[in-house]
Amino acid sequence: MSADDDLSLLVVIIDTNPIWWGKKALGEAGQFTLSKCVDAAMVLGNSHLLMNRNNRLAMIASHTQESRFLYPGKGWAAADLFGDGGSSMESNCSGSKDGKYELLTAINDAIAEEIKDLMTKTDMRGQQTETLLAGSLAKALCYINKMSKDVKGNQEMKSRILVIKAAEDSALQYMNFMNVIFAAQKQSVLIDACVLDSDSGLLQQACDITGGMYLKVLHMPSLLQYLLWVFLPDQEQRSQLVLPPPIHVDYRAACFCHRNLIEIGYVCSVCLSIFCNFSPICSTCETAFKISLPPVMKAKKKKLKLAA
Ligand SMILES: [Zn+2]
Ligand SMILES: [Zn+2]
Repeated sequence: MSADDDLSLLVVIIDTNPIWWGKKALGEAGQFTLSKCVDAAMVLGNSHLLMNRNNRLAMIASHTQESRFLYPGKGWAAADLFGDGGSSMESNCSGSKDGKYELLTAINDAIAEEIKDLMTKTDMRGQQTETLLAGSLAKALCYINKMSKDVKGNQEMKSRILVIKAAEDSALQYMNFMNVIFAAQKQSVLIDACVLDSDSGLLQQACDITGGMYLKVLHMPSLLQYLLWVFLPDQEQRSQLVLPPPIHVDYRAACFCHRNLIEIGYVCSVCLSIFCNFSPICSTCETAFKISLPPVMKAKKKKLKLAA
């Protein structure tokens, strides 16, 4: 078996948070819109597919109410994705008008169609304003797992996930997020992050743990250049490049009671839940701790009594 036959799957997750993108469109930096971001992601996806005939692509939109596959959608048969189909691919292709490779035209049309559908059908009800990034990552891992099962006998599949992140981190998703990161590490799936706005502590940890690249974009309109230079090369090619230096990772954990980032806290010895305050019963696993009170508080009480 030669390494040339190995498959390489790239899953791109785009943060389509309508509130964040809406604010961006209204702001002074209105030149950078969601459609431009999706365009850049499409160019990255097309380039990835053109690099090698064994390269595979998937794209997921991470929205506030759902995570949706932009590509491959329901209309794509597994045979198309493995490049040996032909029959059902024709139904997806309207044909190329400008000499572009038909498959890329079909993929780009499908992505644009799904994004349009997702954004027009968004119904901002309730308090749900955060991007469901942990869910999208889990979906990507499931897809990678499914694809790796479909790989033919002697082939191997290398997979990575690229997150194009826009909105703020959601502390509520801390636990789900960490579980997804460790699952990715176990499956040796690389997580890369391209952050458009404020730094994301969760993604910094994800990239650090899985060996991916974390990059905060300094100038949003040049997103495509960052994507092509930093995120198109795979792990092997990256060792030959001089890429941006690794960042300092914020490894603080969020407490399970208030979701605040803390440096020192209490850890349940049974389930490893983290709390910012001492509590005699763990709220996650309901273990009762047999120690009476933290020694510091006891000492204080005694002193008070003596003083009285
Ligand atoms: Zn707390
Ligand atoms: Zn516990």
